[in-house]
Amino acid sequence: MARIVGIDLGTTNSLVAFMDGDRPRIIPSRTGARMTPSVVGLDHTDRVLVGSAARSQLATSPGKTVAEVKRLMGSAERVALGERLYTPTEISALVLKALKDDAERFFGETVDEAVVTVPAYFTDAQRQATKDAGHLAGLQVDRILNEPTAAALAYGLDHLDKEQTVVVYDLGGGTFDVSVLEMFDGVLEVKASAGNNKLGGGDFDRALAEHIAKEIARRHGIDVRSDPRAFARVLLAAEEAKRQLSATDAVPISLPGIGGSSGLPISYEGEISRAGFEALVGDMIRSTLEPVKAALTDARLSPRQVSEIVLVGGSSRVPLVHRAVAEFFGKEPLRGVDPDEAVALGAAVQAGLKVGSISTQTGIMITDVCPFTLGVEVAERAGQQLVTGIFSPVIPRNSTVPISRTDIYSTTGDGQREVEVRVFQGDARYVRNNVFLGQYRVEGIPAGPKGSQRVSITFSYDINGILQVTTKVLSTGKETSLRIDKTPERMTVEERATAAARIDREWKMGAPVEPAKVHNPGVENDLLTIAKKRLAELPSHKTGELSAVVGTFEEALKTGDKAAAARHEARLTDLLFELE
Ligand code: AMP
Repeated sequence: MARIVGIDLGTTNSLVAFMDGDRPRIIPSRTGARMTPSVVGLDHTDRVLVGSAARSQLATSPGKTVAEVKRLMGSAERVALGERLYTPTEISALVLKALKDDAERFFGETVDEAVVTVPAYFTDAQRQATKDAGHLAGLQVDRILNEPTAAALAYGLDHLDKEQTVVVYDLGGGTFDVSVLEMFDGVLEVKASAGNNKLGGGDFDRALAEHIAKEIARRHGIDVRSDPRAFARVLLAAEEAKRQLSATDAVPISLPGIGGSSGLPISYEGEISRAGFEALVGDMIRSTLEPVKAALTDARLSPRQVSEIVLVGGSSRVPLVHRAVAEFFGKEPLRGVDPDEAVALGAAVQAGLKVGSISTQTGIMITDVCPFTLGVEVAERAGQQLVTGIFSPVIPRNSTVPISRTDIYSTTGDGQREVEVRVFQGDARYVRNNVFLGQYRVEGIPAGPKGSQRVSITFSYDINGILQVTTKVLSTGKETSLRIDKTPERMTVEERATAAARIDREWKMGAPVEPAKVHNPGVENDLLTIAKKRLAELPSHKTGELSAVVGTFEEALKTGDKAAAARHEARLTDLLFELE
């Protein structure tokens, strides 16, 4: 059977998983961690670094390091690492390359296919860019899966017998998605999805960093925001403080020598309380309830009709998120689904479904929706006047996919020989308020009086969320079609080949990562929880080494001995796998 993995290509962290028999499992990275930071950088000799090693130079070398590139996917922006320029797709390809490499090391054989997840609210261009990134990394990505749908699959696998309505609330590092699903007899049916592809934990970090920067300016009269290195440090401190505030009421913030380029020996010592943090991010968190309401309305459900709320994404750990969701639904969200791993595990389940390795055992089936309305620009007659720029929907949002819909339009001018088909997504009446996806020209229309020639426009939206538009001039039968992937930002075949060669070359010349030396903060607690749970399940004669490693790992974390913590973390990961 072909080796196919499931990948969660996250804003902050990425994970790779596979189906081990009938259970999905995370594949550890070379450093022994379960998550790989989605960070890419160049070291002092310009060799490529991916993951923890790149993350740890974020503050010292911000000009040669990039994080959160997922926010730029599908855009025409370029990322500068030192002297070199990269497309966001190329940066993501390097992250995928690291995951592919980890999987290959784990299996001892090549892996050339993956199911990759994207936020449900990703546009067509963002999905295409993700597929391209896979291609550049040497991975065939036939299947793109929506993140909340993946999380639902991971959850659903253990609850196949129940008939229930589930909401997946997915707040990650850079995106927010919500999906409403119905589950019955092993069928998971997505009823509606909504979200905001520009909101996540990174925004919380920036809000907190801005607050700290203002405090520094107030006390010391310098603006660290104008110094990229200093601000990168403030951002890292803000993220760390934010994480700690999920568990404690107040945290100290210490930034020695933050004077930076001002040349002043300034140190900042402050404190931020959970209440203070909540005041900074409260509006952002509450704004996530708008897409939640929209998705419920589309699914024709009230909050009280929802049986379970599954929280996923690292940012769902913020206690205010939990409270806001609990208050809105009038019930506590579910615990027990790992918010960091659910999406990758679900991607592995989808990979298993794709190659037929699990459907026969579990009978699980899933259907998804197109989360936004898709349509074309038209002109409408209002009395004597022709009003242009009007949006005419072809596929209504939250239609079950795959879907194909055809509408017929007529010419608006006498002797009109051409039609410009401009495709948009959104729900606004005027196209200027919607997202432009692509356009093309239909030529060769026979001349005739206005309204005499008719053109059919067919939209086909597939299970990967990729749109194909086909037009037909009815009087001649002539067809023209556009895969929306031919947008200006999309790479040509030649560009892809050149980029793939570059990524391969740079990856091969990349800085070696020494196993288990690089410490990935943030995963310890999860790992400890998993290990302790496992300890409780094991018969006493089998707990020996696991119990010892848990003890030494905890001790290393307590004393802050990072090298020892990394060593024990790697051993613990291996042990857990050995014991499975
Ligand atoms: P994801 O994209 O799902 O990997 O989520 C990553 C985001 O979750 C980042 O913005 C992290 O800072 C955030 N995050 C991770 N752990 C925590 C935590 N304990 N409390 C608050 N935010 C967290």
